[in-house]
Amino acid sequence: MCLQMEIKSYNPVRIIFGIDCVRNNMDVFKGMGRFPLIVTGRSGAKKSGAFDDVKDVLKKGPHVLYDRIEENPKISTVEDAAMMSKKFNCDYIIAIGGGSALDAAKAIAVLAVSSMNGMDLLSSKIEKALPIIAIPTTSGTGSEVTPYSILTVDQWQTKKSFASDLVFPKYALLDPKYTYSLPDDYTISTAFDAASHLFESYFSLRSTNISMMYSLEGIKAFEKAVKAIDKLNFDEESRYYLMYSSMMGGLAITHTGTTAMHALGYSMTYFHNMPHGFANLYFCRPYFKHMLKHEIQKTLHIVAQMGFTDVGSMCNFFLRNMERPRLDKSMCEKYASLAMLQSSIKATPGELTEADIVSMYKEAGSL
Ligand code: NAP
Ligand code: FE
Repeated sequence: MCLQMEIKSYNPVRIIFGIDCVRNNMDVFKGMGRFPLIVTGRSGAKKSGAFDDVKDVLKKGPHVLYDRIEENPKISTVEDAAMMSKKFNCDYIIAIGGGSALDAAKAIAVLAVSSMNGMDLLSSKIEKALPIIAIPTTSGTGSEVTPYSILTVDQWQTKKSFASDLVFPKYALLDPKYTYSLPDDYTISTAFDAASHLFESYFSLRSTNISMMYSLEGIKAFEKAVKAIDKLNFDEESRYYLMYSSMMGGLAITHTGTTAMHALGYSMTYFHNMPHGFANLYFCRPYFKHMLKHEIQKTLHIVAQMGFTDVGSMCNFFLRNMERPRLDKSMCEKYASLAMLQSSIKATPGELTEADIVSMYKEAGSL
């Protein structure tokens, strides 16, 4: 431990993790307000069983449902939902779904109680937000415990995030059974997002002994699901560990943010439609190669904790589970210039230049 280092840690989310935690904790909902806006995607909340549990817990009490959040939510969508919240004078939000619904809910929580428009979220100080209960139905983003919301900004052809202590959910209710309905491909891509949070936070220049504790606890849990991912055979135990590791990833990035893999991944999602978790680990080879140079001890520790013998076999495990687009030179250059706009590049050890980023795109895009 470096004795000169200042350590800061803050996470105000009340976490309840376990099977049936929504039904077993009705009081949580009673204390939140009178008239919730329920924010979901089109189908996941219902398929998971979470929406029915919430409706039962609300005892058919008054609520408004906004169920049109798309994957990688757009600014225009959160503006639309916020108008609905204003119209019905909702006083709290219940977000049910993957990271898209949870992130959208954070933006809606702010817009619903201000005169800001969606783009203002990315530049203005946030003064107020409705309180949120977050109920994840995927195991990946950890959004239920983070102060981050990631939105797609069409005019900038990328995704941008905003962060505010005011959008930390008041409660995170995590029930692994809500992921039983998640198809295998989404289970893997979301799990890879969790893995990238755990790795990137561990490497981040902003990491501390506290954040690394979350990363290592999450990596240990993730390792218990590696076989299930390999065999495409997800049982209750592996889904439990994946949800737990995803939450740990969220707690880790709350302290540090992400690093280059996320910054590079956004263009793979925006221009090639790659699911977010795949988009990050698409870069695992050049990223870990860079880390071997700049953070060898941490790299070897991750590889061992994940149960692999070397970086190459760990990367093979990630890469064989995804479809990988090829990238030409002009794509690599364009995406690198967009990636350089992300602040997470600066949190990556080894002072990455634009030329380094172009090389990373080229290496990942030619394999
Ligand atoms: P998602 O986009 O929320 O959901 C992916 C798909 O899974 C959707 O089609 C959804 O359907 C479906 N789905 C969700 N739960 C389901 C279930 N239990 N059963 C069946 N289908 C289900 O995926 P995600 O990976 O969780 O979230 C990705 C977003 O989070 C990205 O925008 C990413 O940038 C962001 N993110 C945020 C943070 C953060 O800290 N805030 C961190 C990393 C990533 P429906 O849409 O029909 O419901
Ligand atoms: Fe992520």
